[in-house]
Amino acid sequence: MGPFACTCGNRLFIDNTQCVACGAEVGWCPACRTLTTLIPTPAGGWTCGNDACHAPLLKCGNYALEHICNRCVLLVNESPDGAPTADTLCDYCQLTEVIPDLSIEGNRQRWYELETAKRRLLLLLDQLGLPYGGAASGIALPLSFDFKADAIPADGVWKMMSDERVYTGHQDGKITINVREADVVEREKLRVDLNEAHRTLCGHFRHEIGHYYWQLLVAGRCEPEFKAVFGDHEQPPYDEALNRYYQNGPLPDWETRFVSAYATMHPWENFAETFALYLDMAAVLDTAIHAGIVSNIDVRQSSLEEMIVEYQKLGVAANELNRSMGLTDLVPEVLSEGIRGKLAFIHNLVRFATGRELEQPVASAAAASG
Ligand SMILES: [Zn+2]
Ligand SMILES: [Zn+2]
Ligand SMILES: [Zn+2]
Ligand SMILES: [Zn+2]
Repeated sequence: MGPFACTCGNRLFIDNTQCVACGAEVGWCPACRTLTTLIPTPAGGWTCGNDACHAPLLKCGNYALEHICNRCVLLVNESPDGAPTADTLCDYCQLTEVIPDLSIEGNRQRWYELETAKRRLLLLLDQLGLPYGGAASGIALPLSFDFKADAIPADGVWKMMSDERVYTGHQDGKITINVREADVVEREKLRVDLNEAHRTLCGHFRHEIGHYYWQLLVAGRCEPEFKAVFGDHEQPPYDEALNRYYQNGPLPDWETRFVSAYATMHPWENFAETFALYLDMAAVLDTAIHAGIVSNIDVRQSSLEEMIVEYQKLGVAANELNRSMGLTDLVPEVLSEGIRGKLAFIHNLVRFATGRELEQPVASAAAASG
């Protein structure tokens, strides 16, 4: 994503709120869809610094007041005295329905980390042209986010009822993330415990949005084609598969056919894990394009084969760079034929869904291939 340019000529990066060279405030302009310098107006608003745009803007409430966002909203109305009247959250912040309790130490920083990773996810979906929207958008499956913590011990005694435990997951358009995942120590412990190559907030969002797109794009539309590639999601039922996975562990030869051990648990997890890999690939390639490392690739136009070739070349180099620093591999997956077949299903599904409204199911629209 990015980089973008300040009016002073300095580079801006997607999470910036200020230009480090000239000190100007910066924000995302929804009119020209770019990160831009914000020019203050006498009325207390802002104007987009992009010469081709100059849209009147307000900072998102979570930018102006909470400092956890860097997006703006279009100023559509002005009151008679010229003061801005929109008391509004940006399109992305509107999708968050529950935020962590900010009276608890550390939760503001965790909320910031969660919204930053969520913004990256939504920017990527926008870039790929994938449909999503909140309750007011008219989309068949409205998307929303809850960022919740496990129940706090009262009087020093933990009361761990099942409904006080927060599970990271997706249900009917709602993505819930346990705020503990925004804590790097907690996350690393879990990563080692679960023997995962990576465990990141970006990865959680990319996995859970995979479940969202299964329900939006696959359910009732192309389930037979899905089964042929990922397995039968109805047999065994999810709960049975979950118990079996935690008792017996993953299939022994999973590396040759699955993107992760967890993907072996159930076809829905297989799909979500592969969907997350597809988004990882698109995100890394896009960043590499903007950094001038990769050319001749367009994540919205290129074939899957072209994307895989570049991703693997980049992965070999990036892994060596990381190892030279003692870091874990950027690209841990080996993309076997079996995994490529699953990526092809997702690639076709993404291309099919791009820019569509998706209010009515379309039968068998995204057939699997390769
Ligand atoms: Zn600047
Ligand atoms: Zn603009
Ligand atoms: Zn916002
Ligand atoms: Zn899952």
